[in-house]
Amino acid sequence: MDYLMNTYARLPVNLVRGKGCLVWDDKGKCYLDMVAGIAVCSLGHCHPAVVEALTTQARELFHCSNLYSIPQQARLARLISENTFDGKVFFCNSGAEANEAAIKLVRRYYNKKPGHKTKIITMEGSFHGRTLATVAATGQARFKLGFAPMPAGFVTVAFGNINALEAAIDDKTAAVMLEPIQGESGIQVPPPGYLKQVRDVCDNHNLLFVADEIQTGCSRTGKLFAYMYEDADPDIMTMAKALANGFPVGAVIAKPEVASAFGPGNHASTFGGNPLAMSAGIATLNTMIDEDIPDSSLQKGLYLRQCLGELKKVHPSITEVRGKGLMVGVEFDTDISFMPMEGLTKGIMLNVIKGHILRLVPPLIISTAEIDRAVDIIDTMLKEKGI
Ligand code: PLP
Repeated sequence: MDYLMNTYARLPVNLVRGKGCLVWDDKGKCYLDMVAGIAVCSLGHCHPAVVEALTTQARELFHCSNLYSIPQQARLARLISENTFDGKVFFCNSGAEANEAAIKLVRRYYNKKPGHKTKIITMEGSFHGRTLATVAATGQARFKLGFAPMPAGFVTVAFGNINALEAAIDDKTAAVMLEPIQGESGIQVPPPGYLKQVRDVCDNHNLLFVADEIQTGCSRTGKLFAYMYEDADPDIMTMAKALANGFPVGAVIAKPEVASAFGPGNHASTFGGNPLAMSAGIATLNTMIDEDIPDSSLQKGLYLRQCLGELKKVHPSITEVRGKGLMVGVEFDTDISFMPMEGLTKGIMLNVIKGHILRLVPPLIISTAEIDRAVDIIDTMLKEKGI
């Protein structure tokens, strides 16, 4: 650890193996994983279809430059488009990179148009990544501290408030960028109908609608992508995290007319869309579709929230249980930052945001018995603390 930059507050555990919803440390202790690499290993750890795809591809070809055509990219792009909206895809390696590409695409799209619009409206409480442009787009001051000057061109408005959005639009506004449910700020769900209203506002003012589905996407909320709850199909959508079940992949899909703003040389990534990553993505997405993983997420999410609702009745420190599918937040009126460490001693991986919101984003294949176990352990922890 002495040779690593000090960018993470790490818990003292070395995970060495995973299967389904379980992970093991180097001493052989087993943990129920309610974090899944932060909404990444949605099919469970080491899913056989993904392992098979990766190992088969690894024996053939790891890497191929984008100077050449890569058939696996075409297959995954088609799979994404056929299951979302008519569009063209750019592949990269992470969420931040996907959002960076989306921001560049917005700018380039309007670059040659009359008025040259450049302003992007984002949301208070949002999180879009750690590159400079995505930090600038992020609506939380804590991520910007010490990194001034920020790239220009972003304004933030209150999330979930359509009037605030309309009031911020001017003749330089190019796009609205948002997460359908905010993940990093504590599973914040906007009012019903909000996404559709945003879509309409974008249509009325000739703005691009950019959906950051990096955390909400790939079955997490009970639909393949969360915009589908309101038929609010975006012009540009970014995804990463669960797209290849843990293998690093990011992607941005844009409607063809918008995508046409990029030509050869405008954007690139050496590793983006390499055959290994693509094979993992194809296996993951096919499994999600064939096994109706969005429905599993929906049903298990309902059950988890129901169990947590029961817990709320006996633990008054719980103020709200919220979320969609298996993207669940439990808000407390007291500090619960002990939970991740205490969870390790009790055999469960837990994640806490801002010291008082428990974020539960387990693999979407979690069983009801595993949910019962997780809720029992959380119950015990709260009883022991008397909260
Ligand atoms: N956008 C959203 C909504 C996220 O939740 C995240 C990561 O948590 C990112 C972007 C950044 O993704 P990455 O860490 O892969 O760069």
